[in-house]
Amino acid sequence: MERTFVAVKPDGVQRGLCGEIIKRFEQRGFKLVAAKFIQASEDHMKQHYLDLKDMPFYAGLCKYMSSGPVLAMVWEGQSAVKLTRMMLGETNPADSKPGSVRGDLCINIGRNIIHGSDTLENAKKEVDLWFKAEEFANYTLCSQPFLYE
Ligand code: UDP
Ligand code: MG
Repeated sequence: MERTFVAVKPDGVQRGLCGEIIKRFEQRGFKLVAAKFIQASEDHMKQHYLDLKDMPFYAGLCKYMSSGPVLAMVWEGQSAVKLTRMMLGETNPADSKPGSVRGDLCINIGRNIIHGSDTLENAKKEVDLWFKAEEFANYTLCSQPFLYE
């Protein structure tokens, strides 16, 4: 089982897409193990996107990500990191296939409504950056034996 960090960005929140996005992860069979609705500081977003610090869009990205509340979540499941990235689509919504979150629900690369960790290593870092140990729910999904053999 893997855990991955997913966040509905401020634009996704403002556009009323939290429910639609949660629905897709639930329906795929992923288990929600942590969630919070918070406005992150610019410093927190600078830490989150540290890998991109030399990119021309870094400052604007961190400002936008801290401009309003985000829905931060940790989803658990088999191959959760890879499958989540596939569900998100490409970074640029214009390259994202219909059926993906970005391919169905947004248009512009700078307002692409959702974040998902790109590797298992980054997922671990991001989960630790956003959540404390006591913020995780410890439970078994009743659908578990019908999702996995
Ligand atoms: N981004 C942007 N302009 C670009 C590339 C990226 O505004 O040319 C933003 C976009 O919101 C993207 C985020 O920076 O989601 C992080 O970029 P990354 O390459 O990590 O894409 P992601 O992992 O989100 O698909
Ligand atoms: Mg990324």
